[in-house]
Amino acid sequence: MQVYALPLHTRFRDITVREGLLLRGAAGWGEFCPFADYSDTESVPWLAAALEASEEGWPEPVRDRIEVNATVPIVSPERAHELVRTSGCRTAKVKVADKRATLAEDCARIEAVRDALGPSGAIRVDANMAWDVDTAVHALGELDRAAGGLEYAEQPCPTIDDLAAVRRRVSVRIAADESIRRAEDPLKVAVAGAADIAVLKVAPLGGVRRALEVAEACGLPCVVSSAVETSVGLAAGLALAGALPELHFACGLGTMSLLRGDVCTATLSPVDGYLPVLRQAPEPDAYAEFAASPEVEAAWLDRFERVRKISG
Ligand SMILES: [Mg+2]
Repeated sequence: MQVYALPLHTRFRDITVREGLLLRGAAGWGEFCPFADYSDTESVPWLAAALEASEEGWPEPVRDRIEVNATVPIVSPERAHELVRTSGCRTAKVKVADKRATLAEDCARIEAVRDALGPSGAIRVDANMAWDVDTAVHALGELDRAAGGLEYAEQPCPTIDDLAAVRRRVSVRIAADESIRRAEDPLKVAVAGAADIAVLKVAPLGGVRRALEVAEACGLPCVVSSAVETSVGLAAGLALAGALPELHFACGLGTMSLLRGDVCTATLSPVDGYLPVLRQAPEPDAYAEFAASPEVEAAWLDRFERVRKISG
């Protein structure tokens, strides 16, 4: 087992260093990297996903490459323009509703992204549950105008009922992310009319196979996103995107650019907006540079054992 600590270029989810544990099994490498604020119980599916990758491997893909979106964090319009232009992607996901930026700043960032993408590009926003219903309706109107049309808005509000209420009042399509991950029954999102699109993440859903079951159960078009893993964990997201029967949108798997490095020399960075679907995760051969300190390593090994105990 190897524990890594990888600095991020820009703060994300209140973290500046991404940490996790890489483990090797009969089928290859897996990555266990629940965020620091996840309890041991919430981390159980993350372990299941890591063990699926390392012990079992993934189902056969039905496509060999995945279109991905560029990710635009809270940065200046100039930096946003540059990020999108140099990404080679035709779709950009823009983080909005963050406490470090006003709605006017979000709009300015989106206008810069539109300029970088051109009229044929797609812009989606992610509010990470920040708004109440009225704020969401107002903000989405403004952002939709700034974008010259949004592809969709990800998780504008926390609850399924609020998502459904926003969805009834705006023309922008609504995508459920946190609601899919946290709901005991992902069907609820579809039944409540709360979303047009489901965002799936392999690790919090407990693996590629389990995520495929969720996709089938919710019956919505799906977008696969990462949890900002290294290329080891990212490969599992590509395996899911590769195995979904249908895939209509670019996926949020072009996230290596958020990290200042990787544990693999064969980094999964998009080329012309696409990533390849791999049969197994790449070898973590460049790990030494980002090896965690002994204290961080001990904490992760301890966390791994605790979560393994609960998993039974
Ligand atoms: Mg999201």
